[in-house]
Formats: sequence, structure tokens, C-alpha cells
Amino acid sequence: MKGQPLVRFTNVSFAYAKTQTREEWRALADVNLEIYENEFVAVLGRNGSGKSTLAKHVNALLTPSAGQVVVAGLDTSVPQNVWEIRQKVGMVFQNPDNQLVATTVEEDVAFGPENLGVPSAEIQRRVTEALEAVDMLPYRLHPPHQLSGGQKQRVAIAGIISMRPKCIVLDEPTAMLDPAGRREVMHTIHRLNKEEGITVLHITHHMDEVIGADRVLVMDQGRIVLEGTPREVFSQAELLHELHLDVPQVTDLAQRLRKRGLSIPQGTLTVNEMVMHLCPSD
Ligand code: ADP
Ligand code: MG
Repeated sequence: MKGQPLVRFTNVSFAYAKTQTREEWRALADVNLEIYENEFVAVLGRNGSGKSTLAKHVNALLTPSAGQVVVAGLDTSVPQNVWEIRQKVGMVFQNPDNQLVATTVEEDVAFGPENLGVPSAEIQRRVTEALEAVDMLPYRLHPPHQLSGGQKQRVAIAGIISMRPKCIVLDEPTAMLDPAGRREVMHTIHRLNKEEGITVLHITHHMDEVIGADRVLVMDQGRIVLEGTPREVFSQAELLHELHLDVPQVTDLAQRLRKRGLSIPQGTLTVNEMVMHLCPSD
């Protein structure tokens, strides 16, 4: 899967400008990171650890104070590259209401490609495809404000997909959703990653949303302090605890049972794994 990374951060630091209430603040400190095409990378970290600042560097909403971010071979700090970078990397934010602007779902999804100057027959094709990809085609003529939170967020994702990005960056896209909405959105993101080959950078504070990722980054004070597969990361329960993060419920249960003497491996993540360890079948 290696080759050229789609996204590369080299020694990236970023400081927000001083404000009346606050000294200059280094929100990213010497971050090195490579994301490869087709990867599903999740980012964890407590509030203020720099996750959103990192996300905004991937599509040039912010550019480094020091170091370099390169996306598909394009340096984000070169102004002439920004247009192309934004087509390669789409962003989805926390609040779906801020992302939907049109009076019908299909107009909303068409908005991006219209701005890119895509011809109208092609726009129609892309809108249909994008709505199919997020399972929202039956709602194409609905007004967005009548949809549930999970549906709105899927329409927002369709609006990004219709621009045919290589990568989507989702900054806590499920934070405002109920459990059903969260499941819908997670299912959608995984499907886009597996079936459409879209690279995903998913920021979340729900530990269970990280289990299906290829790789997890844990941030603290603007640095990546832990990185690995979900199993590797969640095996570090003490370090995560110091970073004010939890482990998934099943992992927590596994640890407690291990303390009571049961031989359940470190980094047990899912209910199925737990059942297999407790009652191995032949
Ligand atoms: P996270 O997304 O992990 O909660 P952020 O990237 O939003 O973290 O913030 C990282 C740090 O930068 C925090 O200390 C935050 O207060 C600060 N910060 C974020 N946005 C701004 C801003 N616009 N101006 C000044 N400081 C900011
Ligand atoms: Mg944030």
C-alpha cells in the first residue's frame, strides 16, 4: 500500500496569533505524519489537543507556521495550489446545519460541482451517484431541514463526494448525533473508504468509532503522542488514562477480567473477540 503518501506533514508547527485574551498559542508542535491512499486513519485526543488544527492543515484552511504540508504532491503554503488541494480533500464538520445551504437535498449536493464549473449533465450524474453512496437517493427532493441529524450529515458527506475528492477529513462528524445517526454515518464513511477507495481522516472522541480504523493517532498538546493499530493503541490503557482518554467498553471489561485472573489478551476490542476468548469454539 505504500508509495508516495497522499498527505505528508514534515515538522509542522502552528501557532494561533495572539489575541487580547490569550498569548500566542502553539496548537501543533513538530508534527510528522504520512497518510497513504486508501487508508482509514482515526485521530483521538482530549479537547484542545490540536485535532481540528491538524485537520484544517490537510486542506489548506490553515498553513504551517513552520514545516511543510504536502497533499498529492502540492505544498499547501503555495497559494496557487489551494484550489486544487481543496478538490482533493473535502472537509466535513461537526454541525450538519452549518453545512447545508440549499432548499433541497439535491441542490445541496450539486453546490460543490457547480462551483467547480462541472457541466450540468455531469452534475446530475454525480449528484445521483453521491446520494446513492450515502444511501440518501430517495430524499433527493426533500428540504434538508426536515432530515434527522444522521441524514443531514450523510447529505453533507454526499456534497463532498460529488466533488470526487481523494480524501475526506471528518472533524467530529458524529458529535451532535444520536446513536442511530452515529451508526449511519460510521457505516457510510467505512463504505466510502472500502468501496470507493476514498482516504479517510476521522477525528472523534468516541473510542468505539476508532475500532475499525487502519491506524489511530493520539494527540496531546499539539503532538502525536501515540500511533498504531487500534489494538496497539488500546493496549496502552495507562498512557491513555494519563491523556484523559478512555478505552472501548470491551477493552475495559477485558482489563478488569484480566485483573481477576482470566487470561484475556491485551487489546481485546470487540464483543465477538471477547466471546471467542471466554468461550472458544472448536
Ligand atoms: P481540538 O480540536 O483537539 O479540541 P483545536 O485544534 O481546536 O483542538 O485547538 C488546539 C489549541 O489551539 C487549543 O488550545 C485551542 O484553545 C487553541 N485554538 C484553537 N482555535 C484557536 C483560535 N482560532 N485562536 C486561538 N487559539 C485557538
Ligand atoms: Mg476540535
